[in-house]
Amino acid sequence: MAKLLLATIATAVLHASAYGQTQPHQVQAREIYARVVGFRTAPGHQQTAPMVAYLIDVLKRGSVPASDIAIVAEGEATAMIVRVPGSGSRRPILFSAHMDVVDARAQEWTRDPFTLVEEQGHFFGRGTADNKAGVVALISTILRLKAQQRAPGRDLVFAFVGDEETDMKTTRFIVRHPWVEHAEFAINTDAGGGMLDNAGKELIYLLQNAEKTYVTFELTVINPGGHASRPRQDNAIYQLARALLKVEGYRFPVMANSLTRQYLGAVGQVETGQLGAALRRFAADPQDAAAADMLWSVPEFVGTTRTTCVATMLEAGHAENALPQTAKGTVNCRVFPGVAVATVQQALAAAVADPQVAIDLLGTPTPSPMSALRPDVLAAIERAVHVTHPRVTVVPYQESGGTDGKIYRSFGIPTFGSSGGFANPDTTYAHGLNERLPVAAFYEGLDHIYLLATELGPVADDRRSHDR
Ligand SMILES: [Zn+2]
Repeated sequence: MAKLLLATIATAVLHASAYGQTQPHQVQAREIYARVVGFRTAPGHQQTAPMVAYLIDVLKRGSVPASDIAIVAEGEATAMIVRVPGSGSRRPILFSAHMDVVDARAQEWTRDPFTLVEEQGHFFGRGTADNKAGVVALISTILRLKAQQRAPGRDLVFAFVGDEETDMKTTRFIVRHPWVEHAEFAINTDAGGGMLDNAGKELIYLLQNAEKTYVTFELTVINPGGHASRPRQDNAIYQLARALLKVEGYRFPVMANSLTRQYLGAVGQVETGQLGAALRRFAADPQDAAAADMLWSVPEFVGTTRTTCVATMLEAGHAENALPQTAKGTVNCRVFPGVAVATVQQALAAAVADPQVAIDLLGTPTPSPMSALRPDVLAAIERAVHVTHPRVTVVPYQESGGTDGKIYRSFGIPTFGSSGGFANPDTTYAHGLNERLPVAAFYEGLDHIYLLATELGPVADDRRSHDR
């Protein structure tokens, strides 16, 4: 998620106090959170299956029948789909979270990464932010719906993905499942959320409606090589280095859409100085070259203004006393929605302008369309956010990183990333050391998903009957 540079320092607004954390559903959710953080659901540890077994046990004790639980297994990754059947005929709503985490080594962390620790107003542990709080928000919502013994106005389906951080294969199985494939839209807890500045002050609430396409290319130069004592005129490493410098120097054309303009404009309202002015000018006119140039130099914003490609890995040569026979460079691109991968490949080839440098696509990119903002979803998210943060503006945005929301979108399910919690993304350390989530954000996320499920289920059904 993008982070904001903010000069504004205001009185910290502490929301933790708004939660006594004594309501039964909060106590229960915290217990489940502690258990699920304990599963090391990183690749190679075979822990998604035991985590699913634990969650099934929790759900069964919460009166969810086995017939409403489906298991999806793909290699090491196990995933789960839970259905809460509704009364109406409207298409289901999907809620999604992922159970897997990026691995963490205990010796590098201050605290054990797989033990939930509450300290300094935060929950510490791998996955506390990405994305086990989301998993618990989904489970807690199911349990609350079941406890009320009142069917929602439409089917609500909850997806627990097993491999979002790696292959997203279970997401591809989930999206084809009969309970899921006809979903009208999805809410993804793995993106979106409220932004806090360094003083803990609330800034804006971001709602993810689109993602750039993740694409990796490999540049390869092959050379006959030879003895290092007899250098040739051509050299694979020099040739690759020249090609990579041309990639560095190439700027993809400036792009904008309604999402990016709204987002940059909204950030421009809370950002000060020259950067704030550039954000506001770009939002008003993406052809403003000076503003685009300024945003090009800021890592937080460059990805929102154009396709980017950057060198990330190098591999060359086979001995210190031999001329290199092979030199390879990896270039990772984040492609603006609507731009074809082939167009990016052609642009790189034209920039490199050396037919001896092969440019190969690695893997299979998943382009995904922008999800058009739905007034009913926006209104429900605004109402849910304003329960605890009444003055915050909800702003749709396009993600430069990625989540498995792109899989749902590519299968035609409009997807909205909305976690519900407020945090400072600079100090959440998702994927990094000492990952943590503000305690308040955890409890905010629980109520957020519950409110969306109850608002978008029965309320949408009521509206339909009015429309008729
Ligand atoms: Zn995630």
